[in-house]
Amino acid sequence: MPKKIVVDQNSGFCFGVINAIRTAEKYLLEHKTLYCLGDIVHNNEEVQRLTNMGLQIINYDQYSSLHDTTVLIRAHGEPPETYRIAKENNIHLIDATCPVVLKLQKRILSVYQNKNSEKQILIYGKKGHAEVIGLLGQTGNTGIVISSPEDIEGIDFNRPSILYSQTTQSQEQYQQIIDIIQARYQEAGHSDWFAYEGTICGKVSSRAKQIADFASSFDIILFVSGEKSSNGLYLYNICKAHNPRSFFLTNVEQLSKIDLPPADSIGICGATSTPMWLMQDLAEKCAKL
Ligand code: SF4
Repeated sequence: MPKKIVVDQNSGFCFGVINAIRTAEKYLLEHKTLYCLGDIVHNNEEVQRLTNMGLQIINYDQYSSLHDTTVLIRAHGEPPETYRIAKENNIHLIDATCPVVLKLQKRILSVYQNKNSEKQILIYGKKGHAEVIGLLGQTGNTGIVISSPEDIEGIDFNRPSILYSQTTQSQEQYQQIIDIIQARYQEAGHSDWFAYEGTICGKVSSRAKQIADFASSFDIILFVSGEKSSNGLYLYNICKAHNPRSFFLTNVEQLSKIDLPPADSIGICGATSTPMWLMQDLAEKCAKL
């Protein structure tokens, strides 16, 4: 058995996710069911726990066909279209959009609605991610999503642009994209036509250094996260870079499938969408190794 097993106290839900989950739990104490548009959190274990309480995850097609009911909007936020459908179909929305995401949506909307602005709105993020869909919706879907350097070719460098980032992206990769776009505007002779804003969530950007320090303090790192979590993938890669003996798990059962090398110490950590109870369950299982 390892001598030291530590669960990272900085890992676990961010306040946006905590708020969405508490909102759902509170509602379900008084009602049998609650619809939630998309996974409330990118973690199957936590989704299952809430499903057992009565939460019903629905997709957009199911949402569009609902009438006269209540639906929870998760922390990632939604595009205006979702609110329009709610109004038309008499759906009461319980809006748990994270305040940080909401603020970003409003900033993008104000640029889009500014009649005097010729700016192209660029969003650095994962194509198809719920938050990105919500941000893009603020631009009437006219914004350009930049997921990789190749997407930069979609920008017209003879027009000004402003860049925002999805809140859960990597600060370093965002900076790389900023540098490439800046260089292209310089080449085009319009270096002052490009602007960007620092819109990565503080909870995410501060995690990078914390988790790097944590990962290098143990013989082995067990990183727990849902596979769909952008933040999970980002933080896991940091762990791996600082401790090559880092392993990715989505649930406790997977521990038995990993060929763990001998170790005196094990550090357990996760994403902003990983529940603390899951990491603690894993610590208990490790103690029985
Ligand atoms: S990561 Fe930040 S912006 Fe995203 S839900 Fe959590 S607190 Fe909100």
